[in-house]
Amino acid sequence: MPNGGSRTFSKNGKKFMPKYLFDELNSINKLIEESNCLLLFLDYDGTMVYFKEKPRDVKTPKQVKQVLTQLCKKQKFSIFIVTGRGIKEIKNLVDVKGICYAALHGLIVEFSDGTRKHWNPSKSDQKLIESIIKNAQIIFKKESGVLIEDKDYTVAFHYRMVPKDVKDKLIESFLDLVRKIDTLDRLDVLRGAEVIEVRPSNWNKGKFVEFIVDEFILNENVLLIYIGDDTTDEDAFSYLNNKGITVFVKNNEFRDTKAEYWVDNPKKVLEFLKLISKDTSEKNTSIN
Ligand SMILES: [Mg+2]
Repeated sequence: MPNGGSRTFSKNGKKFMPKYLFDELNSINKLIEESNCLLLFLDYDGTMVYFKEKPRDVKTPKQVKQVLTQLCKKQKFSIFIVTGRGIKEIKNLVDVKGICYAALHGLIVEFSDGTRKHWNPSKSDQKLIESIIKNAQIIFKKESGVLIEDKDYTVAFHYRMVPKDVKDKLIESFLDLVRKIDTLDRLDVLRGAEVIEVRPSNWNKGKFVEFIVDEFILNENVLLIYIGDDTTDEDAFSYLNNKGITVFVKNNEFRDTKAEYWVDNPKKVLEFLKLISKDTSEKNTSIN
């Protein structure tokens, strides 16, 4: 077992140990080969690509594009990139024909044929988000390094570039603003890598996967695979518990996860995708 494999994790209140993905390749390959249709959900940052100091500096490596292209050509595969980024941004970043993009944690999805589906938050939730953006832009106007990102349906408070000595103070000040505006607790506050994201609480990546499964899966012999590193991916791991293959990308450190398998980093994700792009047989048609 590779380094770190002896760590235990909590799942449904019980301690358990996710299995190292590459130790289970035989059984996973068997499941892939036996399936008629395969839905592959991939988080982007920290899963397909390594983190950068500024999220805008991230580029999709050529090898990643190549393997995604290869997977899209396989008739029984449908590939979804599920990300917190906006739709335009993720499309420009990945730019692979045949991919389905689920932006803003699945609030907007664009299928490979170009059709889109939006989940509009309620007017009152939208007003809360707008109010947070407006107030934050005033409060943090003179603070160096703060970036308030208006993502239409959600808002992101980026603080990676904020000087260390004031970081905690500014984070607390942003959280305080959210608490003051969201008095009825209608919004979720998500802590990411040097970013805090606020979004309507009735939506998450798990609900997105559930929607896709409910809407499009008519075939019984479908295999679902979800790979991600974020805390926001845990909702999808939770939903897919006993329904599919869930893989946590550990990157620098382990944390509690509901995923059944783990893998080291985006390099290992790429290795896995290369393997499955070669080893599967064609049986049926994919969605869209
Ligand atoms: Mg991620």
